Amino acid sequence: MKYYSTNKQTPFASLEEAVVKGLAGDKGLYMPERIVKLDEDTIGNMKNQSFHEIACTVAQAFFGEDIDAGTLNEIVKDTLSFETPVVHVDDNIYSLELFHGPTLAFKDVGGRFMARLLGYFIKKEGLKQVNVLVATSGDTGSAVANGFLGVPGIHVYVLYPKGKVSPIQECQFTTLGQNITALEIDGTFDDCQALVKSAFMDDELNRHMKLTSANSINVARFLPQSFYYFNAYAQLDKIGKADELVVSVPSGNFGNITAGLFANRMGLPIKRFIAANNRNDVFLEYLKTGTYTPRPSVATIANAMDVGDPSNFARILDLFGKNGNPHQEISRLISGYRFTDEEIAVTMKQVYTKTGYLLDPHGACGYQALIENKLAPGETGVFLETAHPAKFKGTVDSILEADIEIPAKLKAFMQGTKQSIELKKDFEGFKSYLMKQ
Ligand SMILES: *Cc1c(COP(=O)(O)O)cnc(C)c1O
Repeated sequence: MKYYSTNKQTPFASLEEAVVKGLAGDKGLYMPERIVKLDEDTIGNMKNQSFHEIACTVAQAFFGEDIDAGTLNEIVKDTLSFETPVVHVDDNIYSLELFHGPTLAFKDVGGRFMARLLGYFIKKEGLKQVNVLVATSGDTGSAVANGFLGVPGIHVYVLYPKGKVSPIQECQFTTLGQNITALEIDGTFDDCQALVKSAFMDDELNRHMKLTSANSINVARFLPQSFYYFNAYAQLDKIGKADELVVSVPSGNFGNITAGLFANRMGLPIKRFIAANNRNDVFLEYLKTGTYTPRPSVATIANAMDVGDPSNFARILDLFGKNGNPHQEISRLISGYRFTDEEIAVTMKQVYTKTGYLLDPHGACGYQALIENKLAPGETGVFLETAHPAKFKGTVDSILEADIEIPAKLKAFMQGTKQSIELKKDFEGFKSYLMKQ
């Protein structure tokens, strides 16, 4: 399978090139040249299959031409050491719980898959060490670091803003050691991201070391997220609730919802999608006006969605741009909602009081969007619960006036010793540090 760039100014790439490079040379995002359609029987039969079997079928459709079935199945197996159950919340609304992985966020799926795929290419091709640079406001750093932990031939540098990630999040990537280095930057998340971008553009640095990125621009991170859309369908199909599915996705960089759109293109019967946003609502504005205007992000309690210029918007436009009027086609399939911190808090409290279900601030946006969207009779709503509420314990406790339990997996991280290297936010200092590695 070949991969093209959404900017179409650069030659097609192989899967390996797309994964190792991350971003295309013309700064576009890689897209697979074809989306293989699965037939109805294959999808209908998924209700009798395990998550692993379902994911193997989907992985085969994307990567089967490039990786032999045995290797691919191993990669899928290593990736999915956990389940993504669908849990009933209220009326015809279900939660797709994506937080049962090692760092308790949905990014574990893509992070682990990408680490294993890249590790496979490095070993197969005898590539010299690949260095992953990742800027994080919290969740991405932990999922990527834990996914890549101990993978030979790869070193990960996590850049995070000093004092601006929660203590629980911080310990998830500063206590690992081995091939993971945490760089504590005296600046904001935007400063961290700017350092990473400058590093990719610096010729001298790129001659010194092979650099790649591991956020959802990387095809190996976002495509595997389609696995759990099929798995959710299969679980609901089993109980006769899959006929008219409405899927609501708490969105920041829009990698997660894009994976759902790919699943839909592969034949997964999803009636429509909802993009649920916090106050960072450039996508909603696009739906309303047809004009996309990126702007600086604002801080909210659903901080993993504080994105002012969602990188995967380019993929969505490309996916719907073939027949000339992407805005019309996008609006037909996707609707959008936005919520303020106050609205998120009210939803969390109401759902907890009424049903006992604990929503995290991101999942709360997904849930509330289904409520405001007013499901028609016969429709089933599923929202993606993207992180475990305990990752945001301070916020969740104060909203619910509760003391929620911290899962053992999270507690284990909190017992480790923090190791980080403090750097200023200027590029020269960052570069001279990397040049010495
Ligand atoms: C990353 C993240 C999101 C946003 O996902 P995108 O793929 O960037 O749209 C939502 N919720 C949580 C908890 C996250 O970590």
